[in-house]
Amino acid sequence: RVKQDSRNSYCFFTPAMQEHSARTLALASALKLALARNELHLVYQPQIALEDGRVVGAEALLRWHSAQWGAVSPAEFIPIAESGGLIVPIGEWVLRTAMAQLVAWRAQGLPPLRIAVNLSAVQFNQVELPALVSRVLQETGARADELELELTEAATMKNPQAAAAQLQRLGELGVRLAIDDFGTGHSSLSYLKRFFLHALKIDQSFVRDIETDADDQAITGAIVDLARSLGLATVAEGVESAEQLAFLRARGCTHVQGYYFSRPLPPEQFHTFVQRSEREGVRAA
Ligand code: C2E
Ligand code: MG
Ligand code: MG
Ligand code: MG
Repeated sequence: RVKQDSRNSYCFFTPAMQEHSARTLALASALKLALARNELHLVYQPQIALEDGRVVGAEALLRWHSAQWGAVSPAEFIPIAESGGLIVPIGEWVLRTAMAQLVAWRAQGLPPLRIAVNLSAVQFNQVELPALVSRVLQETGARADELELELTEAATMKNPQAAAAQLQRLGELGVRLAIDDFGTGHSSLSYLKRFFLHALKIDQSFVRDIETDADDQAITGAIVDLARSLGLATVAEGVESAEQLAFLRARGCTHVQGYYFSRPLPPEQFHTFVQRSEREGVRAA
């Protein structure tokens, strides 16, 4: 990582930093070929409604298995895709693949589900985004209310007025809209009120120590109350234990996702997970 606050200090490269930037460059050029080489795929992490303990759908998460580099984490390659202009074609592929998968599950007789797709700020700020979303829905046969788009606070807060207009256009298509990693960026609460939104996702950094950390409890409680008063759902991310779940449930959080229920799964395993949950209930029940 390159130091950002180096205005008053000398900038120098350590061997580790050189290696890092060489790797970044190499990954950037490998990523250009990843789509054509079929190296990208999606995994699906179940999201559960606490109201009835049922699977409402999944968050689609991108995976890259590079022939050269092996498995590369999205935390590493998404920023590379964003700065290299690749996030737009990759993001379109993600949207199309997720919606096609959803329609396939519907055809296979799974109960109604919705899929959440992550959008990077670059995608969100594209004028063409609403038209793209509507085209993908039409081409795949997915319904708008089967799609939830997740965006970050950073994507909306750079230009809140433009973001409000974009959210409005997307919302009018009938898709659901969620703010991801809520509480880790800078949200203006006054804009939140004006944004066309359906859910806030509570970042996993607040969930991790929620049984013991009074600050995390206070922050999570405040987010749940804020969301409820704005008529929004809350999705807690990174739920790994029964104790975390118990706290979130008692505090009024509406939805959860995390390893306690399931890791992100390949499509066939997600299918099985939903069928088994319908029969036996999920762990939450
Ligand atoms: P995110 O959208 O906040 O996704 C949640 C991350 O938490 C995922 O990491 C997921 O695998 C992980 N996670 C889920 N449950 C647990 C848990 O119980 N414990 C812990 N410790 N982690 C859990 P992943 O898949 O590595 O993705 C990292 C980030 O990369 C995502 O954060 C998202 O910002 C980005 N990303 C992933 N797929 C896409 C995509 O298709 N498009 C865009 N633009 N970004 C994506
Ligand atoms: Mg997300
Ligand atoms: Mg998140
Ligand atoms: Mg995250």
